[in-house]
Amino acid sequence: MSTEKTIIKNGNIVLENEVIKGDLVIENGRITAMQSAVEVESNCRVIEADGMMVMPGMIDTHVHLQDPGPYDYREDWYHGTCAAAAGGITTVADMPLPSVAVLDKERFDLKLETASKNSVVDFLLWGGITPKNMDKLEELNDCGCVGYKGFMSFATEEYPQITDGHLVDGMRKVAGFDGLIAVHAENAEAADFGCKRFSAEKCEDEAKLDDARPWWVEYEAIHRAALFARQQDTRLMVCHTTIVQGAEYLKRIKAEGAKIFVESCPHYLIFDRNILREKKAFAKCTPPFRNRENVDRLWDYVFDGTIDVMGSDHGPFTDEEKGKEGDFWKEYCGFGCNDAVLSALITEGVHKRGLSWSRLASLTSGNAARMFQIYPQKGSLLPGSDADIILVDPNAEWVYDGTKSFSKTKSAKGVYQDMRFKGKVVSTMVRGNMIFSEGKIIGCAGSGSFVNKNAK
Ligand SMILES: [Zn+2]
Repeated sequence: MSTEKTIIKNGNIVLENEVIKGDLVIENGRITAMQSAVEVESNCRVIEADGMMVMPGMIDTHVHLQDPGPYDYREDWYHGTCAAAAGGITTVADMPLPSVAVLDKERFDLKLETASKNSVVDFLLWGGITPKNMDKLEELNDCGCVGYKGFMSFATEEYPQITDGHLVDGMRKVAGFDGLIAVHAENAEAADFGCKRFSAEKCEDEAKLDDARPWWVEYEAIHRAALFARQQDTRLMVCHTTIVQGAEYLKRIKAEGAKIFVESCPHYLIFDRNILREKKAFAKCTPPFRNRENVDRLWDYVFDGTIDVMGSDHGPFTDEEKGKEGDFWKEYCGFGCNDAVLSALITEGVHKRGLSWSRLASLTSGNAARMFQIYPQKGSLLPGSDADIILVDPNAEWVYDGTKSFSKTKSAKGVYQDMRFKGKVVSTMVRGNMIFSEGKIIGCAGSGSFVNKNAK
């Protein structure tokens, strides 16, 4: 923890309700004051932020760092969180797969140990909900896990699909301690049959992944999960929402008081299904990319607040793995992108569509902190909060190049490759410690800490 006094001077401080010009004072890792023209004492470190947006660091609600486990050659805690830092992310919420599956305390502790030694940014850990670990949910809550991720679609043998009975039962159990369930919402059989059919027909149009797993496959699962959650009075996060129909439905039931948090990913707000023709398996993710009209209309639900939080769903594969099957319909789903997502949102949201900086701060930080029950420790620039701060040059233009990523898997084939961004993260600070500045990682493995929602 930084013990000296730091002043970030003359920045445009982004709060959730306004942007104000002023100074932020940081002492002992926390923000201690926000005012104009703070007097600089001789022992102060001063960071000049004139012309910069001073934002709360992004809280990425959805990453797959794949470490520890057999897939850590794709991504690990050190590289994945260096990439996060470079992208303005100060806290990551890591998903319980395909690392060692976090289904009980033993494996939670194993991940906690690996992450504590290697993470450069602060971190939260998701646990899993599968038919195998229904008796471990409370134990995981006591460990401080922020919630439970379940797949309504088919998943893996080690991490099986959460079937409806178990999902309802799990919701009932976690409602007892105000826990959070997160679902990958796609109807398992309909999605699976769709992909198998297009594979059998040797369909050569990759954009038809959107037809193989169509909007109503996602809609049905969103509807079902939301119905269950309301009946059990459980907090629910709908992961990576892609469809307007789903967002519209969730908007309505949120207005009726449902305790639902809607996550989307920047890539669903930027790319349409045509990116699949261009990038093929490198753009394959589930739910799939949708049509252009859907992408454009999904922004309405960002602006009206239906979509609460943004996850990168960062989960890289090596280039070799993405062509392993020789059949698009069978290749792995997912890609790395966490160092691109904030600049992508600034470019497409703030500059192109007029999203306010304040709304961006809620979307990328404040709302996630509230959902994870760690607000105002995280997610805010108000005095008392952790000094998780990023400086963003709002007008700097740059071109994304995945080969220069800090991620372990450096690919030139990803969806963001060669995309021109306007808005660049200049520096990233976690609890007052500079961990990324001017293109360089300054933080070290283990400089990030576990954020335990139970430690109040
Ligand atoms: Zn994911």
